[in-house]
Amino acid sequence: MLLRHTPKQISERKELTVNPAKTCQPIGAMYASLGIHGCLPHSHGSQGCYAYHRSCLSRHYKEPVLAATSSFTEGASVFGGQANLLQAINNIFTIYDPDVIAVHSTCLSETIGDDIPQIFGKAEADGKIPEGKYVMHANTPSYVGSHVTGFANMTKAMVDYFATANGHREKCINLIPGWVEPSDMKEIKRMASEMGVKSILFPDTENVLNGPQTGKFQMYPSGGVTISQLKKTGSSRGTIALGRLASSPAALALDAKCKVPCKILDLPIGLKATDRFVDALRKMAGVTVPDSLNLERGQLLDIVTDMQAYFYHKKVALVGDPDQLEALTEFLVDIDMMPIHILTGTRDKKFEKRIQELTADVPHEVNVKSGGDMLLFHQWIKNEPVDLMFGNTYVKYISRDEDIPFIRHGFPILDRIGHSYFPTAGYKGAMRLLEKILDALMDRQDRDSSEIEFELVM
Ligand code: SF4
Repeated sequence: MLLRHTPKQISERKELTVNPAKTCQPIGAMYASLGIHGCLPHSHGSQGCYAYHRSCLSRHYKEPVLAATSSFTEGASVFGGQANLLQAINNIFTIYDPDVIAVHSTCLSETIGDDIPQIFGKAEADGKIPEGKYVMHANTPSYVGSHVTGFANMTKAMVDYFATANGHREKCINLIPGWVEPSDMKEIKRMASEMGVKSILFPDTENVLNGPQTGKFQMYPSGGVTISQLKKTGSSRGTIALGRLASSPAALALDAKCKVPCKILDLPIGLKATDRFVDALRKMAGVTVPDSLNLERGQLLDIVTDMQAYFYHKKVALVGDPDQLEALTEFLVDIDMMPIHILTGTRDKKFEKRIQELTADVPHEVNVKSGGDMLLFHQWIKNEPVDLMFGNTYVKYISRDEDIPFIRHGFPILDRIGHSYFPTAGYKGAMRLLEKILDALMDRQDRDSSEIEFELVM
């Protein structure tokens, strides 16, 4: 048992985290930056942070993640990183020629107190930012928040730096997808286009982190929202922000800066959340829902009906990011499963209340925690075992020790491939989720059946 030291008895811990259920802000900022076409993310800090952030993203997406670093050593750590960042900006534009450099800070540069906009001003004055090229930044101190906060901060920075109102409203809707897979971003765009809605999705990592194998190296892949599109977001008819935590800061900033009204929704994972997304898009764009989407919805309902008997009152434990967990919990309740342990490592004041509302009719006691860790999650399961778990790859240790089936969902997934190519968002994504859930439950039933209970038709 790899986690044999996890005690069943839960004791109050305030200052100690064991096996965090989150990672650090710059990883989210780097992921969001990669969703801008021609962008080179830049980590303003030491090489160690940058190497960790890149490797974490590369291991999840199975793609090389290119970024740059200010390479702090002892001197920069004491006197500040201005000289390093100025040198970096010059080197990056000269050698790698990106459209934009997206700088995020780290714990070290935040603690020193480096003023990145002031350094940008000096770079500009020194002529180190070529004509038609851009720099942008987000503050991402990792001693607060999590990777989701970093993603939200960098997405908001896209608005702060680029969104411009041109004086009239275009027939276009901004879609902020939240931290989802590139495959989900593609699915969200597909649904909008199926409805005949012109949209700008930002950030957009489709064809950046799930691109094709062409045999040729491409420093800046074909995907990503362009700077010109980001500028136009200020003149769109409205914004739909998917994911309260990851997307609402950008949507609210766009409203404040350019008076673009916004609607903040859950991630479109599961039936009801996807319905709300489609309905909001329909109303905002003034279109009707096409038969093709109604067909997908009907298929999803049919699958739910066929599978419901196998899901009924199965106990589920979930760990991950707040936006994902809220949508998943609602979906699991809708298919008559019982999510009873729900934990996020990200501190979020509204999370616990929202989960309590979503699980109000679950006929079982429900544990919910924001700012918790994997140790507590494991302890809950030891005290009240479940039939199924959802979470990132780190849950595999609990799955093995407690012999509980486990579906990989969220970030990071380090030991499986395919999540960046197949969506779990939208009606089609929900069908895939249902297939995964049923496979996990039935594989377990087959494995545990005696010879006389082993059935061909289940
Ligand atoms: S937590 Fe801070 S010091 Fe550690 S890798 Fe992240 S940014 Fe760097």
